[in-house]
Amino acid sequence: MRILDSEAHAINPTGIEGCYPTKPQWRYPYIPGPSPSLRGVVADSVAKGRFDDLTDQLLARMDLHGVEKTVIMRGAFPARNADMAGIVKKHPDRFVAFSGWDLESPIGNPPREGPKGLEALERGFTEHGFLGAGEFDLARFMPLPPEQAWQGYVPSMELCRKHKKPIMFHTSYDGGKVPMAYKNPIMLEPLAFEFPDVPVLVCHMGKYDVTFFEYAMMLARKNSNVYLTTSNTRQDFIERAVAEIGAERILFGSDWSMQHGILGERQGFDIYGKNLDAVRNARIDEAEKALILGENLAALLGI
Ligand SMILES: [Zn+2]
Repeated sequence: MRILDSEAHAINPTGIEGCYPTKPQWRYPYIPGPSPSLRGVVADSVAKGRFDDLTDQLLARMDLHGVEKTVIMRGAFPARNADMAGIVKKHPDRFVAFSGWDLESPIGNPPREGPKGLEALERGFTEHGFLGAGEFDLARFMPLPPEQAWQGYVPSMELCRKHKKPIMFHTSYDGGKVPMAYKNPIMLEPLAFEFPDVPVLVCHMGKYDVTFFEYAMMLARKNSNVYLTTSNTRQDFIERAVAEIGAERILFGSDWSMQHGILGERQGFDIYGKNLDAVRNARIDEAEKALILGENLAALLGI
């Protein structure tokens, strides 16, 4: 059975490992709660262009768990497309990548994506051969209210439509001090309506929160271009999603990163193993597991 991982973060701003608690907070899935110094550390590292390349550690975990290939991308923090392209070039049989806006931030008031960011996003498709866009977050366009933040994504979605690429959004409960409404999957609904030809990959399927899971399910039920990923969600959510929307739009993901991967492992949380087990132990049939663990992503990205 092919195992393809829809989400991992191989590059992080230098120094973030010092900004997370030494003890896990709350309960599984391990949710790192960043310290107040995180924002400053990230801003400083990004300004200086200092990033940690976690490729070797990620490859070791992929090998340990039999993962054939992984999509690498920016996560909560920006990453340069050229750095990710370098990783893919070095390991073309193990990685593909999703494009981002390099280190650019939105400009203006109300905030919108600037030309430099959009050019970087497009070059990811045209020059680097990246297969999608992400991982993005509606809070990028704060202070637009959560129900309007989707508007900031229209130019990026148009590029995805033009180049026939899927787009991946982070959703659901996490440790960051961002109002949770920005993490509600239902806030992506206008984009799913507006761009029915662009696959919208909704990360984490609610994580372990039943409220956001129900919103993710509503969104996926109504919009056939919506996919849900399994990273850091619950086995019973995966079972219900298969029963109600089918296995064909569910994608395995690990969300391996400095925060969830390396720091989680130090606390005894094997994030790869736990995310794989949530699918493997689910009470669904083997053909459905094969779809979720690899076949769906292979079909979506042509890998
Ligand atoms: Zn995420």
